[in-house]
Amino acid sequence: MSSQSLSNRSLVEIDRAHLIHPVASFRGHEAHGARVLQSAEGMWLTDIEGKKVIDAFAGLWCVNVGYGQDSVVEAAAAQMRQLPYATGYFHFASEPAIRLAGELTALTPAGLDHVFFTLGGSDAVDSAIRYIVHYFNAIGLPDKKEFIALEWGYHGSSSNGAGLTALANFHRGFDLPRKWQHHIASPYPYRHPQGDDDAAVIASSVAALEAKVAQIGADKVAAFCCEPIQGSGGVIVPPVGWLKAMREACTRLGILMLVDEVITGFGRTGPLFACEAEGVSPDFLTVAKGLTSGYAPMGACFMADHIYQAIADASPLPVGHGMTYSGHPVSAAVGLEVLRLYREGGVLANGAVTGARFAERMEAVKAHPLVGDVRYRGMLGAIELVSNKVTKAGFAPELALGDRLTQMTWDNGVIVRCFANAVIGFAPALTCSPDEMDIIFDRVELTLNQLLDQPDIRAAL
Ligand code: PMP
Repeated sequence: MSSQSLSNRSLVEIDRAHLIHPVASFRGHEAHGARVLQSAEGMWLTDIEGKKVIDAFAGLWCVNVGYGQDSVVEAAAAQMRQLPYATGYFHFASEPAIRLAGELTALTPAGLDHVFFTLGGSDAVDSAIRYIVHYFNAIGLPDKKEFIALEWGYHGSSSNGAGLTALANFHRGFDLPRKWQHHIASPYPYRHPQGDDDAAVIASSVAALEAKVAQIGADKVAAFCCEPIQGSGGVIVPPVGWLKAMREACTRLGILMLVDEVITGFGRTGPLFACEAEGVSPDFLTVAKGLTSGYAPMGACFMADHIYQAIADASPLPVGHGMTYSGHPVSAAVGLEVLRLYREGGVLANGAVTGARFAERMEAVKAHPLVGDVRYRGMLGAIELVSNKVTKAGFAPELALGDRLTQMTWDNGVIVRCFANAVIGFAPALTCSPDEMDIIFDRVELTLNQLLDQPDIRAAL
């Protein structure tokens, strides 16, 4: 049966019967049914009903170069014809994987000279955790196995990473977090008692890390793990200088730092990596999403040279971590072309231009009666809706603002990420034009005005 022979209705029925969706209530998805997407060009997506919407979320914060980049398609096709697969096991390699490793390690912060390729972000984080455990065993410090991460953090859905994640959905029913996974408060300026004072927000994070390490014992803590901007927790933007202060604290406390740039990597916040802006060089750096802009699955775990050399010296036997598709040549060829587009194809430069319009529209929407907070850096941001701007009170869960806003924005022809706590996230492609940014905000503002007109929302104010 070819896909052309299926009616739209039968596609939705087959989906309902057979396809398990990520982070979905099984019954909830059956009731809702799938929104089947069919094609895309630039900033625009079209579904099987012919509805066209502007994508202000770059798929899932990943299609940084926008849809319809022919040169990326050509790079993948050429590689598939020439060599569709090569393993990295048994000392084999392919040219695209080697070239990508060389180009990326020249661009990542100093010291991150080694890279292990994965299929996405979850296994990049999982790889980092496994290497960290291996490292401390290799250097004879087997007690250093405890990990500290942030509340509201997201580090993927692997068995190890989902416990460093601090979102209830990922813990509930999965016996997480594990005993070795600890969390400290998020640097969330809007919800911090001294949120207007950057230095105070930074100091309280440093103090929280110091206190947690003291409580567990410095001889037992392996690493601190964080995103430079917390994406899936609701685009929580720490003050400038926060990442650097945490790097210094990790060094002082004798623990490793794993920076998870799966969302913030590849120009999302302006520079190629968010670490760059703060002059931070972590011991491990994880990326995915923008690495291939979603045109093929790939992630990467970068390892600092001092870790690599210690493992190399201490472990003459094989380090038992690997995947069939690590360094997949088609994904690597895609990654090389996407990297070229960022730098030579003007994508980062365009992101900077449109980023200025993004900032203008963000500042303007702050005046809306429902908007409590706006936060952004580069082409990543969120607005947080509140029922009372003075007390910053949110909305009752029964009002189901996340689901409601998802439906309303879709009806108004724009895709944004609507979180359950009434946060609306934006991560448009870096190729978005200023005019397209205006379309996005006009549609979101229309949605906010419609929401304000709804009786139960009015009653909640
Ligand atoms: N880390 C972070 C910071 C992420 O945002 C994500 C994905 N949203 C992941 C890890 C997991 O990546 P993936 O979904 O590609 O496994």
